Amino acid sequence: MHSGKFYVDGSYFMLTNSKTSILTYPIGSGDMRYMLENERTIFIEGDAQTGYMISGEIPEAGAISRANLAEMLLEMALAWDAPRKHDASPQQMNVYGQRIGQALAQVIKQQTPDQNTWQQAELGMTSLLHSLNIAYRQDAGQGALHYGINHCPLCAAADTSGIKNETETAHLALRAICQSLTQAIDPTLQFTSREGKEAKHVLTILLA
Ligand SMILES: [Zn+2]
Repeated sequence: MHSGKFYVDGSYFMLTNSKTSILTYPIGSGDMRYMLENERTIFIEGDAQTGYMISGEIPEAGAISRANLAEMLLEMALAWDAPRKHDASPQQMNVYGQRIGQALAQVIKQQTPDQNTWQQAELGMTSLLHSLNIAYRQDAGQGALHYGINHCPLCAAADTSGIKNETETAHLALRAICQSLTQAIDPTLQFTSREGKEAKHVLTILLA
């Protein structure tokens, strides 16, 4: 990665040699008192050839605390679903999602100036899905890119742990990431998300 300063959603972020920090969020204890215990920092690393990876660490704990993006979306949702914060949860998750999507778009636009916005959007979506550890099927055609997802880690968390509300807000954040990623790369690109017969989720980017 190149070093430099870049601007996302009202804030400057430092682009260091290998990791770009994009967001820090609090991790609550999850109990009724909502004690602030720690915070996690999300960063982007990688390059245009291998793709970008969004993951996070608790700064004091280092690499051992590494979490993937799907785990972090659920963690964020749990932190904001503490009783006192409940009303703010969907709105805050939307803000988090927008910041992540815009930051990824900013890095891609800065580092792939010779690619068209269509290629940049494709790089953004594949990087995002890899970061979520999601297997997907990509279909391109008729001015659209489709990503079919059958095994969604966010849905799986709802099935195994029963955290239904948090899973909904985690999906909301995922859609916000996709939406802001495509919009920040090119405002004429349109993102849609639907439940499909052929796949559990179908994420689509439409060319203008
Ligand atoms: Zn899902």
